[in-house]
Amino acid sequence: MTTNVDVKSFPLFINGEWKQAESGQTFDVTNPATGEVIATAAKGSKEDVDKAVKAAREAFENEEWREMKPKDRAVILNAIAQKITVHAEELVYLEVISSGGTVRRVSSNDILQMADLFQQMAKFVLDYPFSETLPVPPFPGPSHNFVWREPIGVCAAITPWNMPMLIASWKIAPALAMGNTVVIKPASYTPLSTLKLAEIISTVVPPGVINVVTGSGKEVGEYLTTHPEVDKVAFTGSTEVGKKIMSLASETIKNTTLELGGKSPSIFLEDADLEVAIPGSLFGVFLHSGQLCESGTRLFVPDSIYDKVVKGLVQWSKRLKLGNPLDATTEIGPVISKQQRDTILSYIESGKKEGATIACGGKEITVDGCEGGSFIEPTIFTNVTNDMKIAQEEIFGPVLSVIRYSDVNEAIKQANDTIYGLAAGVWTKDVNKAYDVTRKLKAGVVWINDWHMLRNDAPFGGYKQSGIGREMGKHSLDAYTQLKHVHTSMVPQLEKRNWYQILFSQSE
Ligand code: NAP
Ligand code: MG
Repeated sequence: MTTNVDVKSFPLFINGEWKQAESGQTFDVTNPATGEVIATAAKGSKEDVDKAVKAAREAFENEEWREMKPKDRAVILNAIAQKITVHAEELVYLEVISSGGTVRRVSSNDILQMADLFQQMAKFVLDYPFSETLPVPPFPGPSHNFVWREPIGVCAAITPWNMPMLIASWKIAPALAMGNTVVIKPASYTPLSTLKLAEIISTVVPPGVINVVTGSGKEVGEYLTTHPEVDKVAFTGSTEVGKKIMSLASETIKNTTLELGGKSPSIFLEDADLEVAIPGSLFGVFLHSGQLCESGTRLFVPDSIYDKVVKGLVQWSKRLKLGNPLDATTEIGPVISKQQRDTILSYIESGKKEGATIACGGKEITVDGCEGGSFIEPTIFTNVTNDMKIAQEEIFGPVLSVIRYSDVNEAIKQANDTIYGLAAGVWTKDVNKAYDVTRKLKAGVVWINDWHMLRNDAPFGGYKQSGIGREMGKHSLDAYTQLKHVHTSMVPQLEKRNWYQILFSQSE
């Protein structure tokens, strides 16, 4: 892919305008495939956060935005979807050169999912129960009661580097659909596509509705999380930072949703259709070099088919083409950074030390023309036990742990024996067996004979330490609203309000 996009320097995006950071400082954005600096972004600080939050607050207090009719809001959401499509090439390019996601994936899956998400939200908003009437109560006296759903206010979105613009959209779309305003802090590796997306969205929403402050998690992220004028924090990232955010947000009792890490189990039953299950489970773990939170990183395989499965997994893995993610034939791109490479390689070392066997991969390789990037071979460990570090900790790299089992109930028990609970999967030709296993799996999504099938109309989020709350689907709208109970008395006469006698027992 080639394009004429100018990616030299990106200021902050506040109140509908590009603004330099107060400090005047910038930081470098690097292409993980080549190691080259491709752009600079403004290094935001507390002063910039204050400006963005103020703009977002003013935009929220504007009734025209907050109380816009659902049909008008649907028009805006559809317009955003259309603009994403018009600017697809630029968005895809910025995403690929900064995140290392392949153009094969970003230009087909991510961009379509984003446009579809805004369209789905436009549909949902038309049917959303903004006001529900409750039945007349049996006691203490007649009254009219409503439940109203109102926007929460200024929402801070803090996003990771792996699928930056799609994950930002999971937060922006429902927030805007419900009449909130947003301040986003993208990951420092990947600020570019989020900035561009905000600029695109700003052409159809009032100034201040969407703002982006780039800068460090420690400064910008933490300040947003504690800011008294921020009403909600929506975070996607590691469980470690999620814990920190939850604790910081508690100071001001902020509404908080967290999408965190995973160590998702994929279970082959004896009757799995291996023709599909072998490439399917690899699709589940090696897509985006394993840098997806829902990756199926632990594969449970029964004794009876174990050798055949391992052989197939190795054969399919060796076919995968690593390369520059801008090349349309590349199937796996680089990992995000040298630091992430070192983390992954140290996990591979720990797997070897703990006695697991490398069936394929395990090393860093050099890709011609991308000597400055970090590429790791798709790696499969066999002889893994579920208590090993490589089976318990999130590696966020192209590493699969194959765990052998003889009793399916034991496999399910081990599958659930993790602090995480984001995704899980089961591979079988028998749908009844599949549902039986599915019921027992503790995960926010279970795929039967498939992986990575996230839908804009289905909720996504984690059990246990994989998070709190759900994104996508109608459920995500609830996460951006608060409830107000409105009671209207229908008893005008004091003497008929006998419940007041609880306090005033001696009536005149
Ligand atoms: P991360 O280190 O947790 O960072 C995520 C975001 O939080 C970044 O914008 C980061 O900013 C910011 N941040 C860092 N420290 C912060 C702090 N003290 N206070 C506030 N914000 C802070 O995660 P990552 O390394 O970018 O992404 C990988 C992780 O995300 C994996 O664990 C993965 O499983 C998880 N993930 C989960 C999902 C899901 O939907 N469940 C999706 C994708 C990724 P800087 O970049 O400036 O440090
Ligand atoms: Mg990080």
